[in-house]
Amino acid sequence: MTPDAGADGAGADGAGAPQLTVVADTGLCDGYGECVKAAPDVFSLDDDGFVVVDRPDVTDENEGRVIAAVSRCPKSALRLLADGAPVDLP
Ligand code: SF4
Repeated sequence: MTPDAGADGAGADGAGAPQLTVVADTGLCDGYGECVKAAPDVFSLDDDGFVVVDRPDVTDENEGRVIAAVSRCPKSALRLLADGAPVDLP
């Protein structure tokens, strides 16, 4: 159950905006590595060449790179979630 965050999205605990996370569907990943090029601090490839999400929590610092990685994935294997709900990129 999510506490009422209020009309402006600011929670009573000061948490503010929804927590963005990034997840990968390794069944779709074909190992092109575009995500690693865009955000090497967030993604890596395993020994078989498929994506591993090393840092699923999106921060102000890495958000731009994560969004670039999600949008560049040729297999649509990456997805952003806001408090666990899918986010569609513009
Ligand atoms: S860009 Fe997509 S297909 Fe390529 S390694 Fe990353 S998740 Fe896999």
